Amino acid sequence: MSGIHEECGVVGAFSLQHENVTEYLYYGLLSLQHRGQEACGIAVTDTKESEIDARCTKDLGLVTEVFSNETLSELKGDLGIGHVRYSTTGACVRENTQPLVLNYCKGKLSLAHNGNIVNTGELRDELIRTGAIFHTTMDSELIAFHIAKNRVHSKSVEEAVFKTAKKLKGAYGLVIMSPRKLVAVRDPFGIRPLCLGKRGEMYIVASESCALTAMGAKFIRDIEPGEILTISASGLRSDFSLRQEKKAHCVFEYIYFSRLDSCIDGIKVYDARLKAGELLFKRHPVDADVVVGVPESGIAAAKGFAKASGIPFDLAFHKNSYIGRTFIKPSQSERALGVLMKLSVLSDAVRGKRVVLVDDSIVRGTTMANLVKMLKEAGALEVHVRISSPPFMHPCYYGVDVPSNKELIATENTAYEINKIIGGDSLEYLDTSDLKEMVCGLPICTACFTGDYPAGEK
Ligand code: AMP
Repeated sequence: MSGIHEECGVVGAFSLQHENVTEYLYYGLLSLQHRGQEACGIAVTDTKESEIDARCTKDLGLVTEVFSNETLSELKGDLGIGHVRYSTTGACVRENTQPLVLNYCKGKLSLAHNGNIVNTGELRDELIRTGAIFHTTMDSELIAFHIAKNRVHSKSVEEAVFKTAKKLKGAYGLVIMSPRKLVAVRDPFGIRPLCLGKRGEMYIVASESCALTAMGAKFIRDIEPGEILTISASGLRSDFSLRQEKKAHCVFEYIYFSRLDSCIDGIKVYDARLKAGELLFKRHPVDADVVVGVPESGIAAAKGFAKASGIPFDLAFHKNSYIGRTFIKPSQSERALGVLMKLSVLSDAVRGKRVVLVDDSIVRGTTMANLVKMLKEAGALEVHVRISSPPFMHPCYYGVDVPSNKELIATENTAYEINKIIGGDSLEYLDTSDLKEMVCGLPICTACFTGDYPAGEK
């Protein structure tokens, strides 16, 4: 069930007063850049034109690299969608970039997807049975082809989307653009986030609320798990037929993935991280002189730890924000070098002190081993590592990039052993039973820590 794992961000906008949405989509994508740095794209349509056509610009690279003033000015329209992509096992090639745009019976259909579909084999077989010549195993493409196929026998694009979504298993936050409609869909478990906002007469859907803020829009609400929201010239319509009782929001969105200023399903990411730090101290207190966090995602949890313990918080690292994620460097030695390029120690904060070092997660262990070494070299007397998530033990089938089991340090080693490997004076993790409290009781997917997958996948 491995397939292509993607961590992505999506955005869509429809101006009912026919304002050009392209620039807003660009700002939205810029603010979602943390969700994917490999590729990005924007597709727009002008619903005022008599011959409606979708125009699309997409390529490998960051949002600022792919779009210039010139490319943006060529993309004018009152309806559009955008995507940032970070594929892991999927090849880093231009053909895999999104939005996908395809011809269908009503003109052009465009689609951008965040998440990962687990039954791609079934979806592909069904298309082949109906006579389609089909080679792709890419989940997003399969979804788009199913919608196009279903549209032939449906009254509306949203009906075709519904017929398709009924067959999808896995995680999806989708934005779909037909010639005159913007459709947003969230999987019935609500695994990946998706929210709705408004700026004047422009409706916006986005993976995270931080995109709404960047677009000058007001947050209206989260798209509900299992909701199909259609935005057209006549306004908004929701279909909840896919809704189910069980919800399982991805807890890793709060721990690491989402931006600190986003609010997802009623829980502020910052509050969740702060709480994680507090809970971490309650369970695993330690005598120390200073609490420091790993930028960016460990900082809020470090603040929470400091608040609960009364130990002063300080900044111990400077982060060079212009270097890509160390996580995605291919070889172990390149990754280690990546950490050094990205973070340097502010020695005065740690010299001669017993330090609590907080980060959001340990995946392979490379980052933490390097940071402990750097702090000790800078004169820290002791380094007590506290991780604001439980040990990472299982693959994610729903779109978070997790390396294979054998690369996950916690599958082969106990916390005691990992501590020896990273060279810490102690190492403790957040308890799985604390995760729920961290998000104020929200129903969550904790599969990467517990192996308990929402749909019972093995
Ligand atoms: P590692 O060095 O492999 O243990 O990676 C741990 C670091 O990677 C932590 O500082 C995390 O903030 C970050 N991280 C955790 N999960 C992911 C992910 N899915 N994608 C990118 N970075 C991640």
